[in-house]
Amino acid sequence: MSEGKMNFIVLTIFPEMFNSFWAHGIIRKAIELDKISVSTINIRDFAKGRHKVTDDRPYGGGCGMVMKPEPLAAAIRASVARAPYSRRILLTPQGRVFDQSVAREFASLQGLILVCGRYEGVDERICDDFIDDEISIGDYVLTGGESAAMVVIDAATRLIPGVLGGLESAEKDSFSRNLLEHAHYTRPRTFEGAEVPEVLLSGNHKEIEKWRLETSLIRTFLKRKDLMKDRSLNRREIEIMKKWCLDIEEIIHAQSVRSSDSLSGDQ
Ligand code: SAM
Repeated sequence: MSEGKMNFIVLTIFPEMFNSFWAHGIIRKAIELDKISVSTINIRDFAKGRHKVTDDRPYGGGCGMVMKPEPLAAAIRASVARAPYSRRILLTPQGRVFDQSVAREFASLQGLILVCGRYEGVDERICDDFIDDEISIGDYVLTGGESAAMVVIDAATRLIPGVLGGLESAEKDSFSRNLLEHAHYTRPRTFEGAEVPEVLLSGNHKEIEKWRLETSLIRTFLKRKDLMKDRSLNRREIEIMKKWCLDIEEIIHAQSVRSSDSLSGDQ
């Protein structure tokens, strides 16, 4: 394995689902640049018997099926033999919630073995003895871990240095600084009557940067105030927000003057 190359191994009963995923966009580019290597292992190949069964009924009764431990254990052992430095991840709605900081953490690792569950999930003894980390992509239940594995691989890969044009484009993304990213515009200059903000056409880079920071702050404040609470604002950002406060106070003051005028008019 070359220096800095990240190795993803996905354990699934539906490996074909990944063929298209590996073949497009940034993931394909990262493979071509030799920044990542990717492979799938079919859990069914490790199942015993003529029918290669990977699931069975739950002890204690109840509906649904559970993924049997033996094929999973054998598939994980084979993956570890291939990539011993990897972290073994189980995709599960019960895991710690995946976000940009976990993506950053994963992007710095040498390898991930991603175990995709199906049915009611995997036998608990796999979680106990064969898994280092449990990851959920959000508080909802998917039919299988494959789409969750793709989310994890996608978000981690684009943070590997050299994968995007410059790391800069990842650094300015939403969440990377606990701020949502500013708005983007491209040609045409007028689209169905809507204009591109004048400042972006000015060529004044200082003003453009100021506008971007301000729209970034406004968006975060309006859409995801929770992000701001975990962030220490710098002096420039505080100045921008203080200016909003003054503007808002001015508007409120004008309103209250107007309403007291109309009240006295009523009398
Ligand atoms: N019975 C399980 C429970 O309630 O916790 C859910 C099983 S789910 C139908 C089948 C598989 O989809 C899981 O084993 C897991 O691999 C995957 N999965 C479902 N939701 C997920 C999520 N939010 N994040 C990551 N993986 C998920």
